[in-house]
Amino acid sequence: MRHLRDVRILVVEDELKMARAVRRGLEEEGYVVDAVSDGEDALHRALHQDYDAIVLDVMLPGRDGFAVCRELRTKGRWAPVVMLTARDGVEDRIRGLDAGADDYLVKPFSFGELLARLRALVRRGATERPTTMTTDDVVLDPATHAVTRDGEPIELTAREFALLEFLMRRSGEVISRSRILEHVWDVNYDGFSNVVDVYVGYVRKKLEVPFDRPFIRTVRGVGYGVGLP
Ligand code: CA
Repeated sequence: MRHLRDVRILVVEDELKMARAVRRGLEEEGYVVDAVSDGEDALHRALHQDYDAIVLDVMLPGRDGFAVCRELRTKGRWAPVVMLTARDGVEDRIRGLDAGADDYLVKPFSFGELLARLRALVRRGATERPTTMTTDDVVLDPATHAVTRDGEPIELTAREFALLEFLMRRSGEVISRSRILEHVWDVNYDGFSNVVDVYVGYVRKKLEVPFDRPFIRTVRGVGYGVGLP
């Protein structure tokens, strides 16, 4: 593959065999590759050099991939990041996307798949993407615990925030009361049984009543959801 200019990729991976294979493969495709094996080096490189894309392993010695990605975004570096996660955990994927990653691949992946993702990301280029979640006109920032609706700040208690965050992470899904209870409270919660409904009520009072618009949908007999079609 020929490029009109160098397309430069940073590979961050501490497993040497894997790092070497990825590097060699990318170089064969005509990319210019820098490879580092820990989070500190990755930050140092990415803050001093513009990369067209970064391949970032999650499990790194010292600072992990999530922390590296978040720090880059905080410092206004928007090079597209594809994260390599070891587990097929949806939580990892969500954490990665929250940290400002653009895409992720679960190990083991095929090199062709990595190439395809990188091509798409490089073509798209760096886009500023804040690490917040947005559903309709509600914006939630997991890092600062700030919530706004239509630009207006909403004050929530820690539990109300956790409830809203849980629903917004699963925007478009209907979540059962028992699943909410398990995640936002804990499995052994033995307080009053309608606690979820009570807290949804609290959040609605702050998030819906002043705006006179619904946000959290009740799906009768099933549960609650936001961003439902
Ligand atoms: Ca690793």
